[in-house]
Amino acid sequence: MSTAFASKSTTPTAALNYCFERITLSETTHSLNTFTYLPPTNELRDQAAASSERYATNTQLSPIDGIPISVKANISWLNRPTSASSKMLEHYSSPIQADVIDRLTKSGAILIGQTNMDEFGMGSFTTNSAFGPSINSVPFLSSSTPPKHISPGGSSGGSASSVAFRSSFASIGTDTGGSVRLPAAYCGCTGFKPSYGGIPRHGTQSSSTMCSEARAPTTPPPLPPSPSPPKTSLSSLSIGVPGSYSVSESHPSITKSWVSAASTLSDSGATVTIFDDSLTSIQDSLAAYYVIACAEASSNLAKYDGVKFGSRIRDTDVNYSEEYANTRSKFFGSEVKRRIECGDTVLSKEGTHYSAALQIRNQLRDEYAAALLKYDVLLLPTSVSPPIDFDDANKNVDQNEMMANDLMTVGASLCGFPAISIPVSADPGEDFWVGMQIIGKHGDDDRVLDVANLVYEKLVVDR
Ligand code: GLN
Repeated sequence: MSTAFASKSTTPTAALNYCFERITLSETTHSLNTFTYLPPTNELRDQAAASSERYATNTQLSPIDGIPISVKANISWLNRPTSASSKMLEHYSSPIQADVIDRLTKSGAILIGQTNMDEFGMGSFTTNSAFGPSINSVPFLSSSTPPKHISPGGSSGGSASSVAFRSSFASIGTDTGGSVRLPAAYCGCTGFKPSYGGIPRHGTQSSSTMCSEARAPTTPPPLPPSPSPPKTSLSSLSIGVPGSYSVSESHPSITKSWVSAASTLSDSGATVTIFDDSLTSIQDSLAAYYVIACAEASSNLAKYDGVKFGSRIRDTDVNYSEEYANTRSKFFGSEVKRRIECGDTVLSKEGTHYSAALQIRNQLRDEYAAALLKYDVLLLPTSVSPPIDFDDANKNVDQNEMMANDLMTVGASLCGFPAISIPVSADPGEDFWVGMQIIGKHGDDDRVLDVANLVYEKLVVDR
């Protein structure tokens, strides 16, 4: 887009106006519930005009100057609501600004709105938002048949649905266990989770900190330099296909897309090897992820007591502990409460689950690292199942099914490795998108992006 702005074939103001039209269509006409907050339009118009001016004088701030970008509702935005889609923070205005928002604004990006999500990032379908689920915009892109109402995935479902619908041109999400990659897969977009430590986490209202894009605000440890220069051709690339991820629960179309992706890449010159034996901790990875996630949720969410942050039930007839309990019972949603209870249990004195989970994580990291010594990248699907269908009255959201669907994404999260989901179409008979993940070594983000470009060209553009 910046090339188009620089060559004057369009302007930031035109791009912004286009997004405004798309937002009206998505939120008013189709009720997709993508956004939780939209800033005043006059502010955005002023920013777009300033950016247009910069392009006119060739003083643009960065390649994202003037591009309308949305941000997930758990990323603190100074003096704006930052609800994390929770009643607990419904009327909260952030006194701080996340580093990521700072960087975007300093680069001239136009922050067009905050996107809906599962409350505090807990979920895979955006059905756990206190403000109602978001709807996947993809079926609304074609006007030929009445659109189905399916989930955009989660927890960054509003972000992916917005990008697919072009109500923003890119979106910033957070990914602790797959929350950027899964929605990207379901909405036919690309979703990238950098190496742990690659992006500052400062200012995100996350329930879990283990594998979100993370960096302590005061002492940022630098990422190691990219250990291997980006490869530029498929013929020099060795791709490992971890057969242990081939599970009976996988939807046949997803398995088919995986097999077909691997064989297309092999036919195009990449060395593709299926390996079965080395990732033995995969079967325990989901349990380890949820034990750690719940433990961190119970600890990280303790600060929401109604006093320092957010909503509060004031009651002078009860003592402080009761007021605290009443506040949390009323303003946290059911999944959040479930995880806090689970976290309290695994962290209790008698509990051994937490240390066992950390051990599994270490073992998994060693296994992944060993596999990535043999192969440049790993290729696997982004999900086990297709998105849930909200029109199917018999289909209730099953939280266990939701957790099982995270099998494909939690591995890279537990290891802190960079991973990207790129969209490959499903079978012609199917009406949902399938995502393929490319996973690389820690710090090898450039290569993962480079390979994703090559693979995208082969699997998507060439078809
Ligand atoms: N589905 C995962 C969970 O509910 C992913 C969460 C995330 O990445 N924020 O924990």
